[in-house]
Amino acid sequence: MSLIGDIKDALRQSPATSDGSERSKGAYWCHDCGERIRDVEFEGDGVPSCSVCGDEMEFERSPDSAGCAC
Ligand SMILES: [Zn+2]
Repeated sequence: MSLIGDIKDALRQSPATSDGSERSKGAYWCHDCGERIRDVEFEGDGVPSCSVCGDEMEFERSPDSAGCAC
């Protein structure tokens, strides 16, 4: 039954790595419109602009990541 063990190992490894790399530090907000973009979803330089009003969005750290600085 070594084959089943290999499959279990492969299944266990891939979700763990993808979960760690997708961890976001916070999100960009437009407070006027309530629009939100997670930092991991924004690809580009600088600050994203709101898709509704076009204003610069404000970065806000997510509470759960701010608690642990290690
Ligand atoms: Zn807006």
